[in-house]
Amino acid sequence: MARYTGSVCRLCRRENLKLFLKGDRCYSDKCAFDRRGFPPGDHGQRRGRKPSDYGIQLREKQKVKRMYGLTEKQFRLFFDKANRQQGITGTNLLVMLERRLDNVVYRMGFVNSRTQGRHFVRHNHFRVNGKKVNIPSFLVKTGDVVEVHEKSRSIQSIADSLDAVVRRGVPQWLDLDKENFKGIVKGMPVREDLTMPIQEQLIVELYTK
Ligand code: SF4
Repeated sequence: MARYTGSVCRLCRRENLKLFLKGDRCYSDKCAFDRRGFPPGDHGQRRGRKPSDYGIQLREKQKVKRMYGLTEKQFRLFFDKANRQQGITGTNLLVMLERRLDNVVYRMGFVNSRTQGRHFVRHNHFRVNGKKVNIPSFLVKTGDVVEVHEKSRSIQSIADSLDAVVRRGVPQWLDLDKENFKGIVKGMPVREDLTMPIQEQLIVELYTK
């Protein structure tokens, strides 16, 4: 399925949750969800029917998929990989999604959204352990050093994002050296690091029917 190209704010309204897809705007009074926190469309403000179990599971999957900006195929591949690992499939899935390089540069504060992270990774603005990595789905591991390429350190949006990182905060499994445009993966994320309201078990139920 092709990547969604419509208004991303509609996605937040559809999922009834701020997904933080638009960088600084999400924290401003221009946030569409804060202004119109009801589903988009002509019937958005009507009280709908009670959703089925399938509908609830589907919405949970869509929510997480949209949060990380993945297509259905990419999301499904991640799920299958998580399902083959030992441990709890839902937790494995979320941990893997967090370890994606486009998410890590966002979490470290070099970019203001995962979408921007994906673009910047693809355009070679980052190095991992000194080597060029331009694959957004690259999974970081403990001890990896992620840094902005020297030639990219003058990009204004990176400086702006680093200034704004105080507001978002850096998760405990990552460390940011703002002055040197560098971050270190201190350890793997754990379930408690994900503070967004996600019921990953519903995604597992949906895919393992
Ligand atoms: Fe969602 Fe951000 Fe748009 Fe608000 S501004 S609706 S949080 S994408």
